[in-house]
Amino acid sequence: MAKRNIGIYVAHDDDAIIGVGGTIVKTRAEGGEVYVIIVTDGANSHSSVFGFEKHPSKEEVRAKRREEIQKAMRVLDVSPESLFFLDRPDGRNDIWGEDEKLLGDILTITERERPDAVYSNYAFDPHTDHVAVGKMVERMLGKMSRKPEAFQFAIQGVIERPNRITPIADAVEKKKQALFEMKSQVLLDPYEDEGWQKQPRPILSEDEVRRFLSDRETFRIPKAAE
Ligand SMILES: [Zn+2]
Repeated sequence: MAKRNIGIYVAHDDDAIIGVGGTIVKTRAEGGEVYVIIVTDGANSHSSVFGFEKHPSKEEVRAKRREEIQKAMRVLDVSPESLFFLDRPDGRNDIWGEDEKLLGDILTITERERPDAVYSNYAFDPHTDHVAVGKMVERMLGKMSRKPEAFQFAIQGVIERPNRITPIADAVEKKKQALFEMKSQVLLDPYEDEGWQKQPRPILSEDEVRRFLSDRETFRIPKAAE
């Protein structure tokens, strides 16, 4: 297969692993470049799911996730220089969802990187941060004269009639290894030894993790890219 350069556009760091981890592995194995744009700071996972305000604080969650995603992306053969952190507040797409400055920054990165294809969150996902990023990428495509191919992937929802199904059986082990670098999201008590309080359950349940690590990745082609 010809080498292709791809860009990944996600609300939350782990969306990139869950949605396209296998596609990233395959792209890198074929010699293609991969960059990842992460829109939010991810700081809200423990406060919104468990109501934790300290141990960990939002700032501790943000910092830990930053370390974790860099390790996870190394597993997928993506270097830290290819990660763009836009640090908008997690869960607050009411603030950044229509932000023209953010759209401009995303467009600037895209024009510089010149991807053959872009992959983003699904504009009909149940999580509103995912919707906001999916729509923002659609708006970006509308501003581009030379459009890359575009695909969207669901995280919490399901794409009923996907336009593309990519088999990733040969890449799923690496995808799993990468996802388990996101210890704050997949383990029950990842940082108890650092004083994080005991969680009632992992942020991502075992069932979700099993579903996220299936042998295929499915995509919808957004109307804006047709
Ligand atoms: Zn997400």
